[in-house]
Amino acid sequence: MTSMNKVFADLPVTIFEAMSQAARDNNAINLGQGFPDDPGPEDIRKAAADASLNGYNQYPSMMGIPELRQAIAAHYGRWHGLNLDPMTEVMVTSGGTEALTAAILAVVEPGDEVIVFQPVYDSYLPIIRQAGGIPRLLRLEPPDWRLNEEMLRSAFNHKTKAVLFNNPLNPAAVVYPREDLELLARFCQEFDSVAICDEVWEHVIFDGREHIPLITIPGMRDRTIKVGSAGKIFSLTGWKIGFVCAAPPLLRVAAKVHQFLTFTTAPNLQAAVAYGLNKPAEYFYDMRTELARSRDRLTKGLESLGFPVLKSQGTYFLTVDLSPLGLNETDQAFCWRIVSDYKVAAIPVSAFYEKDAVTSVVRFCFSKRDATLDTALERLSDAIHRR
Ligand code: GLN
Repeated sequence: MTSMNKVFADLPVTIFEAMSQAARDNNAINLGQGFPDDPGPEDIRKAAADASLNGYNQYPSMMGIPELRQAIAAHYGRWHGLNLDPMTEVMVTSGGTEALTAAILAVVEPGDEVIVFQPVYDSYLPIIRQAGGIPRLLRLEPPDWRLNEEMLRSAFNHKTKAVLFNNPLNPAAVVYPREDLELLARFCQEFDSVAICDEVWEHVIFDGREHIPLITIPGMRDRTIKVGSAGKIFSLTGWKIGFVCAAPPLLRVAAKVHQFLTFTTAPNLQAAVAYGLNKPAEYFYDMRTELARSRDRLTKGLESLGFPVLKSQGTYFLTVDLSPLGLNETDQAFCWRIVSDYKVAAIPVSAFYEKDAVTSVVRFCFSKRDATLDTALERLSDAIHRR
């Protein structure tokens, strides 16, 4: 048998796909993989349909259509005071995952150390390894999942080429305060490291919180690669439109990777995202309010069934800690049991660890219609009493 690339050959299928398949197989309500169950904003979908019927449908520029690159720069200018040049500092990709892959492959060379925080999103480590990088895993601790100086001091060194930082953090649903960002920025500058920031959840934040992009922290403008995702911003996850924003010397190389990963992205969807990003601030605040309502509905429902729910500050997710329940089963066992016995899919948070996993926390997606959440809650009513 031909020996295949070891970085990928023995990887499991991602937990999101595995659980969505299990949901389909069991005819279960899917509160696993993060996506809404309503069709998404109609005006934005109409803009895509219109661009598809009346617009240009051949290869757009590999960097993205100018209209979208301008809209991205203007959007971050309005929201965060960032001053991005749309032509040299903004690139459109086919989703956040592609954007992250382009960023990692652009920065990391064999032997470079890359700091990542567990829980870690599952696409980061294989791509770091494919680049020949050596991941240095740090572990964030529930229930706060905050950064601290000792933790960073234990990992940063002269070989630290980059740090991968996800804020707001999936699956822990934390929105990092300025203090943590300043701490991380201090280390990046001391060790001359690049920050690759997965900020795809930047607009999905609750209770009046503010998202602070790391690139806006003093000293970080020229050493941060910021990744965003229209799929998350507009709850159109299947569109797979991501963005990379970075200073020209960083973006230029990320573009060289992107040209051979996907090259470009559907132009009608790009036009519709440009339209969406130009919407007034109220649109984004209303979206947050609506999602926070769903979060509260699922939180209250799960709490009334006896689940200990951890606070969700952002993302489509909340987590529950099974450890006080005395179930004597892991998060994995719990998730496989509830999808088959109760027809509700969820994600075991241990899937976000490579070692020393937290094995008692389960993630539920709440970006669903009320009726979907209510039916899931009914089905789970005796799930914490093992049959
Ligand atoms: N980001 C999504 C989640 O956390 C999954 C995306 C995917 O399945 N590739 O649920």
